[in-house]
Amino acid sequence: MYSQHSIAGHRRSSRPETTVEMTYGLACTMCGRDLRPTEEKPGHDAVPVGRVDDRQTFACRGVCARLGSGSADGLAEEPVPLADRLAAFAQV
Ligand SMILES: [Zn+2]
Repeated sequence: MYSQHSIAGHRRSSRPETTVEMTYGLACTMCGRDLRPTEEKPGHDAVPVGRVDDRQTFACRGVCARLGSGSADGLAEEPVPLADRLAAFAQV
């Protein structure tokens, strides 16, 4: 005798949950990709697509940006430098 458990009810939404990193412009708000620099790359190419709590939110340049803002290049705004976003995040 055995019972079988199904997790078929567990569905993935098409968008990742909003994370703190996203609200600080350190992760793509569309696909969740981390935009922070790593040892291999200086940081993913991202553009501003919106605002949360007076801070810019970012998405990967291209498809994600178009989904988020309607333009592959994001909003026509000066992006907050990554270093400033990292500094703001470090104060959380
Ligand atoms: Zn993305």
